[in-house]
Amino acid sequence: MQTHFINGKFTRGSATENIDVINPATEEVIDSVPRGTEKDALAAVDAAKAAFKTWKRVSANSRAEMMHEASHKMRAHRDEIVSLLTLEQGKPVPENEEEFEWLMNTFEYYAELGRHERGRVLPSGEYSQLNLVIKEPYGVVACIVPWNYPLLLLAWKMAPALAAGNTVIIKPSELTPLTTMLLVEKCFDHFPEGVINVVNGLGKEVAEPLVIHRDVQVIAFTGSLATGQRIASLAAPMMKKLHLELGGKDGFVIAEDADPELAARALAYAALTNAGQVCTSTERIYLPRKRFTEFRDAIVSFVKDLKLGAGIDPSTDVGPMIGATYRDKVDEHIKDAVSCGAKVLIGGKRPEKLGKGYFYEPTVITGVDHSMRIMREETFGPAMPLMEYDNFEQAIDYVNDCDFGLGACLLTQDPMKAKIFLEEVKAGTIWINDPLTDNYAGPFGGMKLSGGARELGSEGLEEFRETKHVHWEFNSAAKSWWYPYGPNGK
Ligand code: NAD
Repeated sequence: MQTHFINGKFTRGSATENIDVINPATEEVIDSVPRGTEKDALAAVDAAKAAFKTWKRVSANSRAEMMHEASHKMRAHRDEIVSLLTLEQGKPVPENEEEFEWLMNTFEYYAELGRHERGRVLPSGEYSQLNLVIKEPYGVVACIVPWNYPLLLLAWKMAPALAAGNTVIIKPSELTPLTTMLLVEKCFDHFPEGVINVVNGLGKEVAEPLVIHRDVQVIAFTGSLATGQRIASLAAPMMKKLHLELGGKDGFVIAEDADPELAARALAYAALTNAGQVCTSTERIYLPRKRFTEFRDAIVSFVKDLKLGAGIDPSTDVGPMIGATYRDKVDEHIKDAVSCGAKVLIGGKRPEKLGKGYFYEPTVITGVDHSMRIMREETFGPAMPLMEYDNFEQAIDYVNDCDFGLGACLLTQDPMKAKIFLEEVKAGTIWINDPLTDNYAGPFGGMKLSGGARELGSEGLEEFRETKHVHWEFNSAAKSWWYPYGPNGK
């Protein structure tokens, strides 16, 4: 049985009920967390607000040292963290090992970036003046995190927020809260009390009170579009700083010059990693009509050999989905496409052999078009819809014919095609020949309905600092342009 973590203490707070945490590969209960209440959220705000007074005065060097120490502790608990993450989130161990590396390195990266600078000096109007642009922490930051990358997406908010001098209240997903609790217990015990707080529970019950609280200055959220819209509407009257990372419906264009075997592997990786539950999963695949059959056959032949299974099994390529409702949505999208004339080539159902667990077979489907839900709405599962295009300009139009703008991928050896693609496609990240990679120094985020926030890079730190301009005159004397204006003026 887990707890909350408020003001340096592990506590059940005012919860009278628990939320079970389920292993998605077996549907067994692993553990539970308290179903927090508004009272718990308010206690966390009080703690974070009080801690901010001193935390903001801690030197950037000391904050950096604490963050490095957290990262060293993570290293010491690596295996424990990775196996618990696999148990509660479901994806294969290699993918969780990668998530762990991101967690640790993000803290190290922002530890250094946070002590690098805190603004700039401007050329002043007069020699006796100093003009400073100062970057300041906002205060209390709520980090509201989803279940698909519980640690990575926490780190991308929490690390820059702390480095900038904010205090944080974490609201983990109710589906994957366990690794966050383990992390706080093992790796952040040297931070002053109140600087880091965790409140467990449901979004409506504990996150909404944070969103509307006057003492929570930033809402850093990754999750679905619907929840993002709800948060934006609740926060609007208070003009709060919102940091929103929402959904995606990324397109992947295979150029005519691409090699079919390479295309099949790149597409499978981009569409099926984390069982297709990545915000930047490839959800729409565009193949040149002239070579469609070749590419299609290579994709089917590669995907049919991928092994579906529990993430803990080293031979597994694709793990379970997080839950039944998410799996049902994929099935609905596929059934809807089939009812409109599409054809399932492989998959399109739950596997017969695996029994329990929220598994869904990797699915390749053709005969789709942009009128179908599978090509318009976020599917968030292991589906690969293939659509033909006649020429490259049309492929780009297809990619841009989407309400989301998170990422887009291209496979080509033709630099001119790459140049046109990166200029014309409206998305926050463009991947050419290397889908779904990230770089600590490079900003990650979306355009259009994917939300405009940026994580990672110096942009990721700026999200958690506000800008103040200081105009300082050293000569304490009246200026010639001050009152009075009339005959007595100078
Ligand atoms: P979700 O919106 O259901 O939940 C995300 C978090 O918000 C959870 O902690 C949840 O408890 C909380 N929440 C729920 N209702 C809330 C409310 N009314 N007010 C405040 N908080 C509330 O999303 P999910 O199903 O956990 O995650 C999947 C979604 O996340 C997908 O749409 C995916 O595209 C998106 N995502 C986006 C990115 C990105 O960087 N853009 C990355 C990963 C996932």
